[in-house]
Amino acid sequence: MTKKDVAAVLEEIAVLLELAGENPFKARSYTNVARQIEQLDEDIETVVADGRLREIKGVGEALEEKITELVTTGSLEYHQQLRNQFPESLFELFAIPGLGAKRIKTLYEELGIKSLGELEYACTENRLLGLKGFGKKMQQNVLDGIAHAKRYRERHHIHTAKSEAERLRTHLESSNDVIRLEVAGSLRRSRETVKDIDVLASSKRPAALMEHFVSYDGIAKVTSHGETKSSVLLESGLAADLRVVSDAEFPYALHHFTGSKEHNVAMRQRAREKGLKMNEYGLFRGEDNVSCDDEAAIFAELSLPYIPPELREDMGELDADPLPQLITIDDLIGLFHCHTTYSDGLASVTEMAKGAQDRGYQYLVIADHSQSAGYASGLTPETVAKQHDEIDDLNRALKGFRVLKGIESDILSDGSLDYTDDILAAFDVVIASVHSKLSMKEDDATARIVAAVENPYTTILGHPTGRLLLSREGYPLDFERVFDACRANTVAIEINANPHRLDLDWRLVKRAKEKGIKLCIAPDAHSVDGMDDIQYGVGVARKGWLEAGDVLNTLTAEELLSWRNSK
Ligand SMILES: [Zn+2]
Ligand SMILES: [Zn+2]
Repeated sequence: MTKKDVAAVLEEIAVLLELAGENPFKARSYTNVARQIEQLDEDIETVVADGRLREIKGVGEALEEKITELVTTGSLEYHQQLRNQFPESLFELFAIPGLGAKRIKTLYEELGIKSLGELEYACTENRLLGLKGFGKKMQQNVLDGIAHAKRYRERHHIHTAKSEAERLRTHLESSNDVIRLEVAGSLRRSRETVKDIDVLASSKRPAALMEHFVSYDGIAKVTSHGETKSSVLLESGLAADLRVVSDAEFPYALHHFTGSKEHNVAMRQRAREKGLKMNEYGLFRGEDNVSCDDEAAIFAELSLPYIPPELREDMGELDADPLPQLITIDDLIGLFHCHTTYSDGLASVTEMAKGAQDRGYQYLVIADHSQSAGYASGLTPETVAKQHDEIDDLNRALKGFRVLKGIESDILSDGSLDYTDDILAAFDVVIASVHSKLSMKEDDATARIVAAVENPYTTILGHPTGRLLLSREGYPLDFERVFDACRANTVAIEINANPHRLDLDWRLVKRAKEKGIKLCIAPDAHSVDGMDDIQYGVGVARKGWLEAGDVLNTLTAEELLSWRNSK
């Protein structure tokens, strides 16, 4: 072991002691000795072998024993024991500048935050604002730090990739050398997370267009620069590729680079059955290319309707007859699941109503947190009454717009909801969600969810698995049982559109639809801007084959209430 290795272990012990809430002097003594050891001008192993550790300032009997154990065996039992008190992922938080052991301890103890992903999500719900030693500025620092720490990650959330791709597209389209241009790949298919950004363009002057691409000011590093393909690493840590083809090749290349691989395999098989050969350069009958102006023409050659990119996952899209008429964002007239300053939102009921009205919606379902959610200032029965009075007043003043009284009720550990029946009966919409005790076995989790779904006041099951993408797995559920319960009790399932959640997963959305269950696309907005996350939920709905009629948001407020009353 080198001096540096030993010092690193001692420094970590100091942090762990602080995390464990031990005497700060004890922690400091480890830091001091770590520093002394780093500055030694001889090997630590020699010092240990000669029995001279006590000559180092600050080393007493206890530290002498520990350092000896560490240097002679390569590990230290005491260090491991301390470490085992905390989840491994908690140590990711030390990558955030300004956090330190004390604040991390607060986050862990007060909010149960155990990983970077959970910390990021807590910031989006403004959870840090109420904590001692934190504030708006600190919350922003933390978010910046997380963005930095995530830069070199393998996969990225869809909202990060989408906004990067839009900026890059604007840059590329400012060139006169672009004929057609499209962002392809998993982003075009609205996958829940993406690895990189694939851009495809057609041009008569590919080399000039490539020059324009690599001159983009958001680039951290050009990884490869060729005539028809270049790759870069963007400053945000995302990789982006540009491929340039001739305009005649563009439709075939666009289809190919949109994927998925599985869809492409199925398409090539289909082409073979028709005596054709398909690849990224064309569709060939013998040596001759079958000329297609766009993707729709390629599908038509294979006797297929145009298959929207979101469906290209080899989930039966080549055999469906007819294909679903996929829902679009313009089909939505109601906005569900929005928080206000009554719980952990940043905007008032009035501001949220205006935000929804400005975006063209006809109604807004306010759904703040319920009373058990102490971390999020959940509403007591008294504040519920106060909010309902405010909503009544507001509705009298509003023209052509309505605010509905909703709540995001915690599902307690036994599956019951968070208020007595008389209070639950006062809401137009009850969204039931799990926020606590997330580690459950499949049987227990399923029983808890099914009990909540069977509650006669439940309207919608919120973010059904509790997952946080790239950070926390959802609890395991027997979905067939959950779907059966939703069906039997006329309960809809939420597609939580927050890009960190996208829960229910699109693969299960398709299954839920087959089971005859209604879905509800909800931004879970904690600010007016948060409403725009709805677009990612629409992506999930489309990937799950949903049509307008499958989704609660396409009902008018009256239709919604009569659907609810049909229970
Ligand atoms: Zn929630
Ligand atoms: Zn919520």
